[in-house]
Amino acid sequence: MARSETQVGIVGAGPAGLMLSHLLHLNGISSIILEARSRAYCEERVRAGVLEHTSVEMLRQAGVAGRLDREGLRHEGIELGLRGQRHRIPFVELTGKFVTVYGQQEVVKDLIARRLADGGDLRFECGTVSLRGIESAKPTIRIEKDGNIDEIRCDYIAGCDGFHGISRSSFPDGALTVYERNYPFAWLGILAEAPTSREELLYMHHERGFSLYSMRSPRITRLYLQCRPDENINEWSDDRIWSELHTRLGCADGWHPTEGPVLQKGVTGMRSFVVEPLQHGRLFLAGDAAHIVPPTGAKGMNLAFADVYYLAEALRALYAENDPEKLRRYSETCLRRIWKAQRFSWWMTSLLHRFEEDSPFDRRRQLAELEYVMSSRAAATSLAENYVGLPLEVSAPIERGAVDHPANY
Ligand SMILES: Cc1cc2nc3c(=O)[nH]c(=O)nc-3n(C[C@H](O)[C@H](O)[C@H](O)COP(=O)(O)OP(=O)(O)OC[C@H]3O[C@@H](n4cnc5c(N)ncnc54)[C@H](O)[C@@H]3O)c2cc1C
Repeated sequence: MARSETQVGIVGAGPAGLMLSHLLHLNGISSIILEARSRAYCEERVRAGVLEHTSVEMLRQAGVAGRLDREGLRHEGIELGLRGQRHRIPFVELTGKFVTVYGQQEVVKDLIARRLADGGDLRFECGTVSLRGIESAKPTIRIEKDGNIDEIRCDYIAGCDGFHGISRSSFPDGALTVYERNYPFAWLGILAEAPTSREELLYMHHERGFSLYSMRSPRITRLYLQCRPDENINEWSDDRIWSELHTRLGCADGWHPTEGPVLQKGVTGMRSFVVEPLQHGRLFLAGDAAHIVPPTGAKGMNLAFADVYYLAEALRALYAENDPEKLRRYSETCLRRIWKAQRFSWWMTSLLHRFEEDSPFDRRRQLAELEYVMSSRAAATSLAENYVGLPLEVSAPIERGAVDHPANY
């Protein structure tokens, strides 16, 4: 059996685990990341793509925004669509802030490159992970691979292993309360090699169901259609998908999405999910391991970054100042932001999707609400403020001196 030690053992090399490891490194705290999948798999996994103003600032302060600043697309607003008419929500005018479109897989590539350049210990395809002694002073991560067992003794363990990881289920029975809502629809998403023909994201309400026009780069578009939760993707030829996208997204002024080869397609379920608390003993959950939002509000990756920002800062205060208070409050600090993001994601989802079970009253009320957001500066400001990202609760800034590493990019 091989044994090693680190201050923080991190399970999962998604945005949460990688960013946490980097922030800890900037503060002189050691960590080891254990990731079930290969590096290539993590770097190619296409998921989220909208970074809040807050997340971009965090990445900049942490010195990992070099490529993001060069290649990310600055979006100063979004468009909402109804009955073929578009209405712009101008973020900069309403809030002074904007969002940046930059694929999650690109953020992951940048963070992996930076961790490796800084000598980080990242163990891809690590094997089967289990957690031991989370209530003890020295919890252990046990890894089994090819008949070999490794043990890592840690001061703390961060469960950053997403919704299907093992960290959440390592909490003792009864320690967690689950809050959950499942939606009666899913998103059928495609990634297409098609030049972008709109500057900003277009969220379209349509009687056949919601659709979203978005992009990952000037040449790659990402489009979504509301569909059944059990939709069989094999029944959706590329022609059928494009035809439905034209029907739902087509605008009265003649605009339609530009077609191109479909590179990827898949169906993603829609769910709101939170567990409380985010800590038990020396195990801390962060990101999708603790909460899921429907993607309508573009909050998933951003919430993951906020969690690890608080966790890194709490661990810094503990190690550098012997102050355990922030760590003790980690769960409640995160949950205040998580619930605001849950509310916003639920609200955007309710506003824009078609709910088959809605009564005629519900339907008229939904349309009235959408028209209100499209016509009231106050309502649009509320949407914009949440979309660009609510401010992080103030704590000590991330340690500077973290200039971009030219070798990484
Ligand atoms: C299919 C899908 C599509 C999405 N699309 C969008 C979108 O379009 N827009 C949007 O805003 N958000 C989207 N999201 C949400 C967003 O991608 C997540 O919120 C974000 O990835 C959260 O980051 P994370 O690091 O917490 O978790 P993850 O990115 O899930 O990372 C967790 C990591 O842990 C690893 N892991 C899991 N179990 C173990 C284990 N037992 N041992 C070791 N490693 C393990 C995983 O392989 C993974 O690399 C999507 C999510 C999914 C799942």
